[in-house]
Amino acid sequence: PIYLDYAATTPVDARVAAKMIPYLTELFGNPASRSHAYGWAAEEAVEIAREQVAALVGADPKEIVWTSGATESNNLAIKGAARFHAGRGKHLITPRTEHKSVLDTCRELEREGFEVTYLDVESDGLIDLDKLTAAIRPDTILISTMLVNNEIGVIQDVAAIGALCRARGIIYHVDAAQAAGKVEIDLSATPIDLLSLSAHKTYGPKGIGALYVRRKPRVRLEALIHGGGHERGLRSGTLPTHQIVGMGEAYALARGSMSTENERIRWLRDRLWAGLSAMEEVYLNGNIDARVPHNLNVSFNYVEGESLLMGIKQLAVSSGSACTSASLEPSYVLRALGRSDELAHSSIRFSIGRFTTQAEVDTTIALVTEAVAKLRELSPLWEM
Ligand code: PMP
Repeated sequence: PIYLDYAATTPVDARVAAKMIPYLTELFGNPASRSHAYGWAAEEAVEIAREQVAALVGADPKEIVWTSGATESNNLAIKGAARFHAGRGKHLITPRTEHKSVLDTCRELEREGFEVTYLDVESDGLIDLDKLTAAIRPDTILISTMLVNNEIGVIQDVAAIGALCRARGIIYHVDAAQAAGKVEIDLSATPIDLLSLSAHKTYGPKGIGALYVRRKPRVRLEALIHGGGHERGLRSGTLPTHQIVGMGEAYALARGSMSTENERIRWLRDRLWAGLSAMEEVYLNGNIDARVPHNLNVSFNYVEGESLLMGIKQLAVSSGSACTSASLEPSYVLRALGRSDELAHSSIRFSIGRFTTQAEVDTTIALVTEAVAKLRELSPLWEM
C-alpha cells in the first residue's frame, strides 16, 4: 500500500538506523557507568544527542530530559508541574482538541482534586486568544496547548499564548510531537516553559522522546518515575543509548533538511488538494493557511467513512486519528470544530512525508476519486 500516514509514525531513516546499530552491539555500555570506557563512550553519545535535540528547538542541552516519548513527556510536564505547584492553585486550561495523552492526564489530575477548563476552539481549529484569556483565573497554574495538531495539522500561535502566560506567571506547556522538524521552534526566543518531543514522528525510533524543561526562569517539576536519580532526578531509569542516538541523528537530519523538505511536501500537498477538491462536496478540515504542509484532513460529503476506507485499501491513511480509530466514534477533534457527525465520519487524514513521491500522490487522487464516485452513486442522499 501507499503510505500516507506519516502523522501516525514515520519509518526510521536509514542514516539514523546506521548510527544506532553500533550502540546495540559493540558500544553497549551503560551511560551511567562512570568507571570504565564502555560507560564513557555511551555517555558521550548520549550527550551529543542531547545537543542535537536541543539545537533543533533552540534550547540548552541541560534543558533536555529523555523520556519514552511524547506521551510520557506530556504526563511528566502536566502532572509534574501541577503537583509541584499545587500550593499556588489547582486550575489548568487546555483546548478540547489536544492529544489524548494531554486530555487523559488532565482527567487524572481532576480525580486528584485539580480543576481543568477544556477550552473550545474556533471552527478552523485555532485558539481564540481572547477566549483563552477569559478562561484564566487567579488560581490558574498551567496552560497546555499543542503546537501542531496531529489530526488536522493546524499551527497554534504559541508565541502569543506564551507571552500571555509569562505576563501572569502561568506555566506554559507545549506538545510539539507533531511539530519538530516541520516548523521552526526557537525556545531561546519563545516564552515556553515545557515542551514535549517524540522521535518517531521525525524519522527516529519509537519509544524515545524528550521533555524540554526551562532553566531560566527555572521550572520545577515533581518526578513521576523514581529510582537511580538519572536525568537530574526527573526521570530515573537506565538510558537507552541506541534510541537516544537515533533521536539525536533524526533531529540533526531534520534541522538540515527542514526548509527544502517542507517546500517539496508543500508542492505534493497542493497537488493532492487540487486533485481531491476537483470533486464536489469535499471539505478541508482546519485552517487553510496556519497549517503544516504535511497534513491534509478532508471530509467527503455523502460517503460513509468506513465504506470509503474499504474502497481505498491500497492507501495507508487514517480516519480521524490512529490513536482512537479503534472506536467508531466520530473524531472528537472534528466535532470540536463543529463538524457534523456525517462530515466527521467521512474524514480522511492524508499525511505526507520524506519518502512520498509525486506518483504516489497521483495514484492517491485517482483511487480516492473513483471510490468516492462509486459510493455516491449508491447513496440515496446524493442527487447531483
Ligand atoms: N502528542 C501528539 C500531538 C501526538 O501526535 C502523539 C503521537 N500520536 C503523541 C503526543 C504521543 O507521542 P508518543 O507516540 O511519542 O508517545
